[in-house]
Parts: sequence; C-alpha cells; structure tokens
Amino acid sequence: MAKLGNPQETIQVLQKHDFHFRKKFGQNFLIDPHVLDKIVDAAEVTEDDFVLEIGPGIGTMTQYLCERAKKVLAVEIDDKLIPILQETLSAYDNVEVIHGDILKQDIQAIADQHNDGKPIKVVANLPYYITTPIIMQLLESRVPLANVTVMVQKEVAERMQAKPGTKEYGALSLAVQYYANPYLAANVPPNCFMPRPNVGSAVIRLDCLKKNPIEVKDEKLMFRLIRASFNQRRKTLQNGICNSGELNFSKEEVARALEALGLPAAIRGEKLGLEEFARLSDELMRG
Ligand code: SAM
Repeated sequence: MAKLGNPQETIQVLQKHDFHFRKKFGQNFLIDPHVLDKIVDAAEVTEDDFVLEIGPGIGTMTQYLCERAKKVLAVEIDDKLIPILQETLSAYDNVEVIHGDILKQDIQAIADQHNDGKPIKVVANLPYYITTPIIMQLLESRVPLANVTVMVQKEVAERMQAKPGTKEYGALSLAVQYYANPYLAANVPPNCFMPRPNVGSAVIRLDCLKKNPIEVKDEKLMFRLIRASFNQRRKTLQNGICNSGELNFSKEEVARALEALGLPAAIRGEKLGLEEFARLSDELMRG
C-alpha cells in the first residue's frame, strides 16, 4: 500500500472504496506531508511510545505514527472507514484499530492494557464538532498522559493558550491550563485538508502536568464558579455566580468573599487567573 499524505493517493483510496465524506463526523482529511511531519514532530513520538490516535480517517497520519512509535491504537467511529484502514495499514504490525466512539472508550483500561499504566501520548486531527468534550474528557480522566497533540480550529487553540484579560480567555483556557501547559506548534491553512474546512486550524500540544499548578479544596466548585463567570461574560463575576443554576450563593456571600480576597465588587471573571478562582472557591466554601 502506498504512503498516504498527498491529494492523489487520498483521492485514489476514496474512489476505490466509493467513500463519501460524512459531515456529521467532522471529516477533513490531511493531504499535506509537511503538516503530517510537523504533527508527529510536535508530539515528540519516539520508538518507546504508545500512541492513541483519535479518528484515523483513511489512516494517513496513522501511517506516519506507525513509523515512529512502538505501538499505535486508533479509534474510529465511522464503520465505512474500517475496511479502508485494514488496507492502508496492512504493512504495519504495530497498529490496532478499534471501531467506536472515543467518548465511550475506557482510556485508563487502554493505557493499562497497552502501556502497563505508563503515560501515553495522544495524537489527533480532531473532529471539530466535539473538540472540547474530547480534550476535557482526556484531561479530567486522570489517565496517565505525557502529552496530547491535536489539530483544532485556530480560535480554539488561541482560547486554550489565552491569559487573563484577553478576549480569547475563558473557561476552556482555565480548564486546559489547570491540567497542562499548551504549546502552539503550527498554524495550518484550509488547503491542507480534503475537503477544505471553512476555518483556519492549528496544531497545539498540551504537555500534561504531573501536579496541578494550584491547590484548591473543591475542584468541582472551582470549575462551577469558572463556568458561571464566563457563561455571562458581560456581567460582573458576582452576577454570573448568583445567576448560575449550578450554584447557590447569595450576593452578600459573593461580595464578602471578594472583599476578603481584596478584589473589587464589580470585577469580571475574565480578570481572574486560576489562583484567584481557587482562592475564591476556598473562601466561598468557608461561608
Ligand atoms: N486523522 C485523519 C486525517 O488527519 O486525515 C482524519 C481526521 S478527521 C478531521 C476526524 C476523524 O475522526 C474522522 O475520521 C471521523 O470519522 C473521526 N471521528 C469523528 N467523531 C469521532 C468519535 N466520536 N470517535 C472516534 N472518531 C471520530
């Protein structure tokens, strides 16, 4: 089987199998060898690594990963792609394809079974319709992860990296930065995909932290506060928290907590960093 990664080979495979793109699965296949090399380089894949690939498509990036990694496990939801993958990956003996939804996989069991519970690497050109749930599920699962290198919509990459006070900063920035250090590896234009997406893309690597960067007594409460304060971006933090269906604090309680932390009563959530959300959460817990 020929090495994939250019438009001609991709079209040939698609035509041979009479494959039609399914929009609902976010199918935009990579057709640029430079970008493929860049992703695998950014992920720092070595021959000691077990790599989980999400959504292999016709197996283009999978081939690149197989040539660098010890083992690759690829999870693909579209049943029509499974026979194609069997063919395009037939030359590799270090790959396994699972037909299924990544959101329903037991990633901990995968890491235990295939990598003796040691940190795994995740690499994916993600389907954009479920980028955030996939990333958050991975980070929150506490599965041992070395890094997660993903192609995402450019705006999403910018939000993951954003710092307080910028317009990109939000709940996703805080959630990602609680678990990982983001590193933007490359911007990728639409013409590197088939079919072309309507948006620009970027490759971002999340270097997963062994220890969270801040300490907080109740992680769940902190993330509820974060969600509440960005759900209503134009409102003050106090209003956001009091209007949230997930929380039950009075205006007075929030005002008291903000005062105890030395923060202005009318402050907006977008001004607070992780550390301040943690202190606010601890303060509100104390009552
Ligand atoms: N990796 C290929 C490439 O770069 O050419 C394909 C990338 S395409 C953007 C996303 C892939 O993820 C598609 O093959 C799609 O069928 C698959 N996919 C979509 N939702 C999925 C899910 N929930 N679980 C696993 N795979 C999924």
